[in-house]
Amino acid sequence: MAILATAVAASAIGTLVLLAIYRRAAVAAWREPVLRQPVVIFESDDWSPGPPSDAWALRRVAAVLKASSDSTGHHPVATLGIVLRIPDRARILGEGCTKHFALSFDAEPSSAVRAAIDAGQSEGVFDVQLHGMEHYRRETLLAAARTDGRVRQWLEGERTARTEDLPAELQSRWIDAGTLPSLPLAADEIAREAAAETAAFRAQFAREPEVAVPPTFVWNDAVESAWASAGVRVIVTPGRRFESRDRAGRLEGPTRAIRNGDRSPHGPLYVVRDEYFEPLRGHRAEDLWRAVDRKTRRGRPALMEMHRFNYTGTPEAVERSLAELARGLSGLRARFPTVRYMTTRDLAAALERRDPALARTDWPGRLRAWLWRMADERRFLKLSWLTGLLLPLGLVVAFASRPGFR
Ligand SMILES: [Zn+2]
Repeated sequence: MAILATAVAASAIGTLVLLAIYRRAAVAAWREPVLRQPVVIFESDDWSPGPPSDAWALRRVAAVLKASSDSTGHHPVATLGIVLRIPDRARILGEGCTKHFALSFDAEPSSAVRAAIDAGQSEGVFDVQLHGMEHYRRETLLAAARTDGRVRQWLEGERTARTEDLPAELQSRWIDAGTLPSLPLAADEIAREAAAETAAFRAQFAREPEVAVPPTFVWNDAVESAWASAGVRVIVTPGRRFESRDRAGRLEGPTRAIRNGDRSPHGPLYVVRDEYFEPLRGHRAEDLWRAVDRKTRRGRPALMEMHRFNYTGTPEAVERSLAELARGLSGLRARFPTVRYMTTRDLAAALERRDPALARTDWPGRLRAWLWRMADERRFLKLSWLTGLLLPLGLVVAFASRPGFR
């Protein structure tokens, strides 16, 4: 009896210590909204002015999305992370890479791309988000073009210049990666650039740049502050914030952990996009379904990263990507009959007001999602075994795992 009492006491003390250590993570996991239903959004970055083949690609993607809908009649949405300008390579080269010239959606041959974006938006399958004025920092790109053969070649190439093909560090717009490790930008440059790109977005699409997606997920406080004062209300993140690149050009950090519904000190709401559906990189429909299952258990939305490059390669590759997207969507509805499709804007608005139609308020459902979230903390899980905390947690999960959520 004495041995049992000692064991129970040791377990209780261990549990209290464990919860004290993981207090912050536990509270954050509890505070994060818990969604009632699976929510799936495809986030497709990098769409920019481009050749008519990009318009064709957008129309094909739109057609696949339009063929599916959720039980409320909404089609799946691909949010388009818009890059407002691409380099005018001939003119840049003509000036010896000392001055930057750009092409916007208003210059031919991009009108077809622009029309395809509008068509998809009015059909409810696209929603534009701000990705950047350019997918690079102009001064850094020009300097690199003068010294780096790869960048020079990129400018001189005959094919459409895809910023996806630039060295990764040059694709980060909010740092100076001309030398590595990268340097932060001056606050006034950031403020100027943020004001210019949000104004350009507004002029191009006749609406507020409500949602912003930092290129390569490198940004900082100054960017958040400048975006917030320019009308950005939502920032798409990978659940972390990277602010710099190291000597090898790799992302450095991260500097902070971010959860859905967290708020930037400057005002905008964060959402987390950390799942991937990039058929060109080998992601299959099964990966999509697994990701949705993972997110749904945790009461989180599945924001699927699905870049433009999946749909702008060789015709065979594009067909394969489209077929995989179609297969993924038809299987989604079958596996998750309550799945909901919406824009990231609408999701953020629902998270912000804890919309009871979308966010759970009942404790068993919230507790179950909390347990799944905490189980992702590997050490917490291991220590829960040791302290015996896992037994009562397991019982609660079993209790809360009654049908109704999925
Ligand atoms: Zn991008």
